[in-house]
Amino acid sequence: MNTFDRKMEPQEFRAYARKWLEENAPPAPPERLPITPIEVMTVGQRDYLQDWQRKCYRAGLIGVDYPVEYGGHGQSGLQRIANQELERSGVPYLLNIVGLNMVAPTIMKHGNEEQKRKFLPGCLSGEEIWCQGFSEPGAGSDLSNQRTMAVKDGDDWIVNGHKVWTSLGHFAKWMILLTRTSNDHRYDGLTYFLCPIAGHPGVTVRPLIKLTGETGFNEVLFENVRIPDTNRLDEIGQGWAVAMTTLSAERGAAEGAGSAGSGVGDPAATIRKLIELARSTKRGEGLAANDPVTRDAIVERAILAEGLRQSAKRSRVPALCDHPMRLPLQTKLVVTEFDQENARLGVEIAGAHATLYKLDPRAPSSGHWPLAYLNSFGNTIAAGTNEIQRNILGERVLGLPKSK
Ligand SMILES: Cc1cc2nc3c(=O)[nH]c(=O)nc-3n(C[C@H](O)[C@H](O)[C@H](O)COP(=O)(O)OP(=O)(O)OC[C@H]3O[C@@H](n4cnc5c(N)ncnc54)[C@H](O)[C@@H]3O)c2cc1C
Repeated sequence: MNTFDRKMEPQEFRAYARKWLEENAPPAPPERLPITPIEVMTVGQRDYLQDWQRKCYRAGLIGVDYPVEYGGHGQSGLQRIANQELERSGVPYLLNIVGLNMVAPTIMKHGNEEQKRKFLPGCLSGEEIWCQGFSEPGAGSDLSNQRTMAVKDGDDWIVNGHKVWTSLGHFAKWMILLTRTSNDHRYDGLTYFLCPIAGHPGVTVRPLIKLTGETGFNEVLFENVRIPDTNRLDEIGQGWAVAMTTLSAERGAAEGAGSAGSGVGDPAATIRKLIELARSTKRGEGLAANDPVTRDAIVERAILAEGLRQSAKRSRVPALCDHPMRLPLQTKLVVTEFDQENARLGVEIAGAHATLYKLDPRAPSSGHWPLAYLNSFGNTIAAGTNEIQRNILGERVLGLPKSK
């Protein structure tokens, strides 16, 4: 029987994960899923994905590296293999992407014993969905410009303010919340909380409509919201340092560093989709797949996909990780632009038919390419815009002069 065992060697674990995924791939979802977990909108989509995450967790494919006492599986160093197998098998993505890629690594680093025991198990299993409350109307690229204020009141904090672009906020039980606790210091005046969201008095979650017509992100308003001091992560005034842990985990998620489960697509799978599209699209008397220009463009993308796969391996070679932010920043930048260019090529190959949107039965690849193209712009903005990533890479990693 193919069962999970805590004593497995890496090769055994890979064989186990591959077989389990072959035998347990879920049936097709009851309704179409969006391209990424951060656009999940309906209760039907949520329930289907939450059920899938629970099964993967119970099978030992999520939280693999995390200690058993915090709900993990205590198999240090094997999450990367589980992520690779999840991506390779083409099964649905995991819903609790903010929880797995950002919250779990942050709580592991900055949480106390009680917080780790309380918050990590539900985060790993997906029972408790998490969202990230960093951005505000006046604090995006300039994250330290936080205006949401938390004021101490006995053993509690009272929070007032306004967060925006909160992915999955509409399903979240918890939020990682960055607030200002002092106006006297810009960075040292920030404090980080684990804030209850769903049904919590004073919290209002309002959906925002995106370019694609989907929602998936929200604005979240806080009106005299009470949070116990036991939900503060790390010390008062340490919020900036904690937020940096979260951001480097978010930007590095593509190489699986510190993440508790897979949330990232397989670049090779997108290339296979482009080839399928070219093989099924008429071009003149033949097919797009026979057109030398199209073939050349797809081969160029395939070479880049292989380059990305090889580049991700560098995270395991300490000598190549001279600066802690080099790989996370580079990966975020390159992967989002890689995806955007793939989607643009898909739209180009589909030609005039790319104007048919996802609900049109005649749309090639069920309308995937135009939707992916529109979505790709959001991904170059989320987790810090690519312009900002370039600035940080230039100034802090390469040591170039500071931009004015
Ligand atoms: C799909 C998506 C999901 C998101 N999910 C979340 C979430 O779950 N939680 C959350 O907290 N936030 C989330 N965000 C918000 C995201 O982090 C911010 O949008 C991002 O940090 C940019 O901030 P801003 O929108 O305020 O743009 P601004 O900071 O106002 O920037 C506007 C433009 O100016 C440019 N710019 C600004 N400063 C500089 C500079 N110094 N040098 C060069 N160019 C500059 C930017 O690159 C950008 O093009 C999400 C965003 C998107 C698109």
